[in-house]
Amino acid sequence: MENKPGKYPDMKGHFGQYGGRFVPETLMPALIELEKAYNKYKKDRTFLNELEALQKDFIGRPTPLYFARNLTEALGGAKIYLKREDLCHTGAHKINNAIAQALLAKRMGKTRIIAETGAGQHGVATATGAALTGIECEIYMGSEDIRRQSLNVFRMRLLGAKVTEVNVGSKTLKDAINEALRDWTTNVGNTHYVLGTVFGPHPYPLMVRDFQSVIGREARQQILKAEKRLPDCLIACVGGGSNSIGLFHAFLKDNIKMIGVEAGGEGIRSGRHAARFAGGSLGIFQGCKSYLLQDKDGNVLGTHSVSAGLDYASVGPEHCYLRDLNKIEYTYATDTEALKAFEVLSKTEGIIPALESAHAIAEGIKTASSMPRSSIIIINLSGRGDKDVQEVARIKGINL
Ligand SMILES: *Cc1c(COP(=O)(O)O)cnc(C)c1O
Repeated sequence: MENKPGKYPDMKGHFGQYGGRFVPETLMPALIELEKAYNKYKKDRTFLNELEALQKDFIGRPTPLYFARNLTEALGGAKIYLKREDLCHTGAHKINNAIAQALLAKRMGKTRIIAETGAGQHGVATATGAALTGIECEIYMGSEDIRRQSLNVFRMRLLGAKVTEVNVGSKTLKDAINEALRDWTTNVGNTHYVLGTVFGPHPYPLMVRDFQSVIGREARQQILKAEKRLPDCLIACVGGGSNSIGLFHAFLKDNIKMIGVEAGGEGIRSGRHAARFAGGSLGIFQGCKSYLLQDKDGNVLGTHSVSAGLDYASVGPEHCYLRDLNKIEYTYATDTEALKAFEVLSKTEGIIPALESAHAIAEGIKTASSMPRSSIIIINLSGRGDKDVQEVARIKGINL
């Protein structure tokens, strides 16, 4: 597993001025233990062989790189390929990280894993990893999210996990993260915390990126086989930033345009969005220094997106760093644009995307139309839309 393309992050997890480890002293031993274990096992052939076997037989990797001929012809511009993370077991890329961390927890001798979840996708992936490895599992989830995502709550329970309701603050993801961190502080001896994206204190942004980088390694080989050359452009949606950095990482040394797409919600001026680069500023939140949606006194602002997976106030530190280096550009798609793309991909290709991924499709539609037919774009289809059809029906005023 490739650790770093250049000289970052440093030993303390800094990506330039971003990242780091802003946690109470009580959590330091757990983070250091995790960092040591990760550094050991990422070079351990037995561990890597076990992970690779599960990627193949359990997750279903390699996922296809699919040439979207119908969409390409409809737009009349660049050739569009879709990296099909929607075909992963449990329906999204999150399982790549959850399985790897569950295996690592087992190697570390942990008997219990905990995680936070917003919409429930990461909770389901973690509960799946726990069931597979035979480790006890507890998932923290805000009561507001539990109400909105009852189907995923039932899935986690079917998988044998305990789902614990967090009834404080806004009763959503950020409160669930706080509770999970509190649990970890108390139970560090036997417990591993499976963080779901490239965020939080070091080593999570580095470790989760490495576990998701399989997406780009595969895509690179697949496009070279299909087209005998590298693509001109890569596009992915950015919540915490794991599916995007997972795709981009293997291409960072190449001179390729990369676009990260945040949730524009109801537009930047409305204040109801999760576009940290368009509307945020530098701050420290949940263990990490990064771009953050905050008011002038540093209070974290509420966010909004039609897609729960993009609805978070901050973003992975590596993204901030690569943006400063002009390696990756960031833009946003609004709820309306994402909903349109959700329908366009469904009708043209017979693929219903997750609403998160629909943000990347929306940008792909704009970009492809403005590029010549000889150029090539890869869009990361981070997840499938089954989880979202009910919400889309509700928005359209259709009673199911
Ligand atoms: C969680 C999720 C995302 C956003 O998370 P990242 O860490 O930015 O990848 C995107 N797509 C899907 C399908 C998700 O479930």
